[in-house]
Order: sequence, then structure tokens, then C-alpha cells
Amino acid sequence: MNIILLGPPGAGKGTQARHLVETRNMIQLSTGDMLREARTSGTEMGRVVANVMDRGELVTDEIVIGLIREKLEGDKAGGFIFDGFPRTLPQADALADLLSSTGETLDAVIEMQVDDAALVARITGRFTCGDCGEVYHDVTHRPTVDGVCDKCGGTNMKRRADDNEDSLRQRLMEYYKKTSPLIGYYYAKGQLRSVDGLAEIGDVQKAIAAVLD
Ligand code: AMP
Repeated sequence: MNIILLGPPGAGKGTQARHLVETRNMIQLSTGDMLREARTSGTEMGRVVANVMDRGELVTDEIVIGLIREKLEGDKAGGFIFDGFPRTLPQADALADLLSSTGETLDAVIEMQVDDAALVARITGRFTCGDCGEVYHDVTHRPTVDGVCDKCGGTNMKRRADDNEDSLRQRLMEYYKKTSPLIGYYYAKGQLRSVDGLAEIGDVQKAIAAVLD
């Protein structure tokens, strides 16, 4: 089964994707994670990508489609979760072509609905464990012991360079201009399922499970 998690920055796509990886043996394909890895590569491409990401703008379709193409050639396990991809209509068309060329299908597009005021609060307090990816928040979800991950015991907490209010406003602008048209696109294709992304994490997990089952 292959699915897309669709929603603005801070909607909880990464958190839900990690749960699906753990419970359903699916593979998370996060273009944001791939690009964060690329920016540390020390290459010219890495420097360009870092600049674009820090401004909160979108990296070119060509780059992200190339990254996804490589991953689709690898292990498929229990299917792919596309997290943060596609973000534009050309990316959505490219994904359809890539999947059909390998005989795969897109089984559902899960839209995580949230309101913008909640996103600013969520994103500006967010930090993650650099070892296992567990997501924390300064106000709503602190680790039991400051600086130590509840899940893996790691002490390597990280904040994203683009998780600040200015970048977030630009990321939201990009979302509404370029990504939100995908909601209509997948609705028209009969593939869109919407869940309340502001519910408790466990309730969002249940709502997504209900769609997948
Ligand atoms: P994310 O981790 O999904 O919030 O992505 C972080 C940043 O990476 C975005 O603000 C963009 O600059 C870039 N990015 C991630 N995925 C894509 C994509 N599919 N298309 C273009 N840019 C992307």
C-alpha cells in the first residue's frame, strides 16, 4: 500500500509517518529529511538547497523528483508513505508516472486538517531527538528528563533552522500557493481522505488506521 500524507508544515505528517513505519512496516519517504541530509553534503547542490530551505521556499521539482525516483527503485517493504511530497502539481504528475512505471498504485491521500494559528505555536516550540526522530515541544510535550529522549535515551536534541516564525510564514505561503491545489486534484481523482490533524496523536493514528484498513 502506498499513501501520501498531505498537510501544511506542522500538521503532524512526520509523527504519523513514523507510527506507520513502526506498526505497518512501511517506508517513510520524507523529501524534507532527504534534503536536510543533502545540505550537509558539502556540495554546491547542498549549499543551494540549504539557502532555499532556510528561506522557507520550495526546492525545484527536478531535485525532489530525482530524490524520490532513486528511493522507489529500492526496497518496498509494506509500501511507501510519501511525507512532504508531492508539494506541487508537476510533482504529483511525476509521482503518478513513477508509480505506474513500476506497476505500483497510489492507494490513498490522507489530508491532515489543522488551523493556521495552531501551526505557528506547534512549529516554533518544536524540537526532535537527532537519534530516533521523536518529536517534542517546549510547552506541550517535554521529555521527562530535560535533554534526554524518552524513547531512545539519546541526548542529541535538534531544532530545525527553518522552524522560526519568519520561515514558517513563507512555508505557509508556499503551501497555500503551490501545495493546497493538490487537495482538489486528489479529491477529483477520488483518492482524498481527510482526518482532523488537531486531535490527540492517538486519535489521529486511529483515524488514519481506519482509512488504511
Ligand atoms: P519539510 O521537512 O517537509 O517541512 O520540508 C522542509 C523544507 O524542504 C521545505 O520548506 C522545502 O524548502 C523543502 N522541501 C521538502 N519537500 C519538498 C518538496 N516536495 N518540494 C520542494 N521542496 C521541498
